[in-house]
Amino acid sequence: MRYLITGGAGFIGSHLAERLLHMEQEVVIIDDLSTGSMSNIAHLKPHPRFEYHLDSIFHHHLMRELVDNSDVVVHLAAAVGVKKIVEQPVQTIETNVRGTELVLELAGKKNKRVIIASTSEVYGKSTKFPFNENDDLVMGPTHHSRWGYACSKAIDEFLALAYYREKKLPVTILRFFNTTGARQTGRYGMVVPTFVRQAMTNRPITVYGSGEQCRCFGHIDDVVDGIVAAIPEPKTLGQIFNLGSTEEISMNGLAQRIIDITRSKSNITHIPYAEAYGEGFEDMERRVPDITKAGATFGFNPKRSLEQIIKSVAEHTQIRETRSMEVAQYGAA
Ligand code: UDP
Repeated sequence: MRYLITGGAGFIGSHLAERLLHMEQEVVIIDDLSTGSMSNIAHLKPHPRFEYHLDSIFHHHLMRELVDNSDVVVHLAAAVGVKKIVEQPVQTIETNVRGTELVLELAGKKNKRVIIASTSEVYGKSTKFPFNENDDLVMGPTHHSRWGYACSKAIDEFLALAYYREKKLPVTILRFFNTTGARQTGRYGMVVPTFVRQAMTNRPITVYGSGEQCRCFGHIDDVVDGIVAAIPEPKTLGQIFNLGSTEEISMNGLAQRIIDITRSKSNITHIPYAEAYGEGFEDMERRVPDITKAGATFGFNPKRSLEQIIKSVAEHTQIRETRSMEVAQYGAA
């Protein structure tokens, strides 16, 4: 089978590409490197079943050709990271809505299998825990950019389901919950790589708000297990699934775990949300997925612990730091 991964040089995309190559599949990626990076796919480039295009998904002719020549399209290209979303709201909405519209339109012409990446952000400020796929979505006011991101992803979901109902397009929506692991960067605000980097350099760990807010961090390998199990399962067509871990931790707790595991000398410092994200920012106090449906439909069963996540992020950070120090000292190889 030939898989097209949009956003394939990103964090999730590059791990998925790697897994599919191990599974003897053909993988084509397209990525404009807006948040993805060549270093994520450097190890895949020599592979004979791997092809990459450093281009925009809005390059219509190229995308049409790539979709036509693939059996499965996994659409991961999107604006990511709370920091980036708050700073670039126009680009966020346009990339997410237009990008998904284009992918669905092209896939619809030849009835291709499509996976649409969504996010736990769509649950918004809901306080009904754990979040179930059938729950109401509770959005905040439109003058807060964060909800623009959530709504843009909700529109993607509506559109994908409309294609399924009206045109019988075999589409599945996956809602990712705080996926983390090696190769994720803290550049767009993600908390685990940010804290790990701070801990490893013995700088203060920047906990935003009270630090009592909680998240469940999903190991990238568990999430990739879920994606590859969902794709061939006919019962996933026209359906939405939560994918993530149910192990919950506060940001204060996370900071301390990271300090302990990396044996850091860092202190924890609390920074007001307004300073971190700008005035009027609204955070979610908790976010826990109900993963019963994914478990029952395609055997999703996350196995890796938070400790494994932190260790793999730390190991990757170490490798990256060493490499950039070598480049600074001896120049690029
Ligand atoms: N966060 C933090 N310090 C940081 C970055 C993030 O305390 O340097 C907090 C953020 O406010 C949120 C949580 O960590 O409550 C998770 O943030 P992230 O951006 O990783 O994901 P989110 O769940 O917000 O999409």
